[in-house]
Amino acid sequence: MSMSEALTKALPLLYALERRGYETVFVGGCVRDTLLGKPLKDIDIATAALPEQVIAVFPQTIPTGLQHGTVTVVQEKETYEVTTFRTESAYERFRRPAQVEFVTALDEDLRRRDFTINSMAMRSDGAIVDPFGGQDDLRRRRLRCVGDADARLQEDALRIVRAVRFAAAYDLRIAPMTWRAIIRYRERLVHIAMERVGLELDKMIAGSRPNRAAALLASSGMLAWTKERLPAAMLDAAEAYAKAKAVRRHAAIAESPLAVASAGTGAAASAGRRMALIARTMRRLHLITDSEDRWAAVCAALSLRGGQASELFGLLKYSSQRSARLAAIMGLHEAMSLRLLSHTDAADAARDVMIAEETGIDSRTDEPELRAHWRLSVLKHGKPAAAGWLAVVGAIPELAFGTAGIGERVSSAEAKLNRLRESLQTMPACSVKELAVKGKDLLSLAGKPSGPWLGALLQRLLEAAALGRVPNERESLLAEAAALLQTKEREIE
Ligand code: ATP
Ligand code: MG
Repeated sequence: MSMSEALTKALPLLYALERRGYETVFVGGCVRDTLLGKPLKDIDIATAALPEQVIAVFPQTIPTGLQHGTVTVVQEKETYEVTTFRTESAYERFRRPAQVEFVTALDEDLRRRDFTINSMAMRSDGAIVDPFGGQDDLRRRRLRCVGDADARLQEDALRIVRAVRFAAAYDLRIAPMTWRAIIRYRERLVHIAMERVGLELDKMIAGSRPNRAAALLASSGMLAWTKERLPAAMLDAAEAYAKAKAVRRHAAIAESPLAVASAGTGAAASAGRRMALIARTMRRLHLITDSEDRWAAVCAALSLRGGQASELFGLLKYSSQRSARLAAIMGLHEAMSLRLLSHTDAADAARDVMIAEETGIDSRTDEPELRAHWRLSVLKHGKPAAAGWLAVVGAIPELAFGTAGIGERVSSAEAKLNRLRESLQTMPACSVKELAVKGKDLLSLAGKPSGPWLGALLQRLLEAAALGRVPNERESLLAEAAALLQTKEREIE
């Protein structure tokens, strides 16, 4: 097997240990991805040398996880995890092995790994060590546990979620025994830290087939068993998907599970429409580049409000910065989708003509009402959130415009979004920082001490500049500020 540049660069590490008589190999993900011709994420190395022997060989090492046999070796600015061949025993709380035992046989080490595609090694001469048929499984596009699936998933329930992630990322079918074990032991997910589940879900969302991951998560029923309960909307959607799929299987209808779910009237029909929106969102999710924006699309499809979306991120132990950004996109989404959903083109036109008459703005091209609403919402939630929201609804316009008859309306929806995009780009100021006057200018203008009035005044000026009522220029803004201060004083009198 030929080696990529990244593996070749790491070869001196293997040689250094081999020269001292320790069998050493590349292992896991980097071997799998090399066989698939995919770019490598990280390079893991396994060796017969004990951690202290590894530390003795290399000038720069970090004792990352000595009790599990892992030493990080730093070489030419790259880091490599070098782990001593080991077996695991006595799994504790369905996750971490309570004990690891260092061994000298590579096969023993490969046997403890989760799936056959992850249980291959590559020697320094490029030879592949594949005792469990990983290459064959890759060729047949099959994900299979190493050894007895029941035993392996019982040992460590995180593998249940990893199975979905790998099946989706590499477009593999899950082997029947492995799938049965997933269903049988899914309840053990209650023992897995939410943080670990969060990491896996993140990789699924960011991966190339988030739709496939969602379908597998739903049909396995595993989401209902997480340690902390996920939002009801998410669990309901997963359950509805699984039910519809089961119905379809029994009836052998050649329709999508969601078409079955959306049949019926009244409440059932509305639930069906919701499911159709979720399905459409999941199918198009990969079109959104940024994974944070993908999460926002999922939350929007599930109709989670801003607060509920941040709660979900809290459950998954994502950072508060990520939560805040998501909440901002969701806030903007609420403001804009309500506005876009509840107004027909005809009503828009009538209102725009009225505003046009008052302001002299061209109502046909400028949509002044919509643009004002948009720019005020951008001020409230921030420009980054606005860019994120545009990416979301650009890929999935139904999230903002609804599913009804979107087919015919899609070009008008696209045109509207293009105008919003342009309106964002040409916004004279999106934050107080971008205003052509500063707080101290206003202080000297007002000739009174700073107080809450200053922030309020800056905000008023920002709105005026953002809406284009006052040019974002120093003189104009100072004149506007003076006028505002005067009105204020008159109001107080
Ligand atoms: P990626 O880096 O793309 O997520 P990977 O295969 O490198 O994929 P890691 O989580 O980095 O996955 O783990 C490295 C290797 O360690 C895996 O390939 C697998 O052999 C083994 N491994 C990781 N987690 C487990 C687990 N929970 N149970 C058994 N083996 C595991
Ligand atoms: Mg890895």
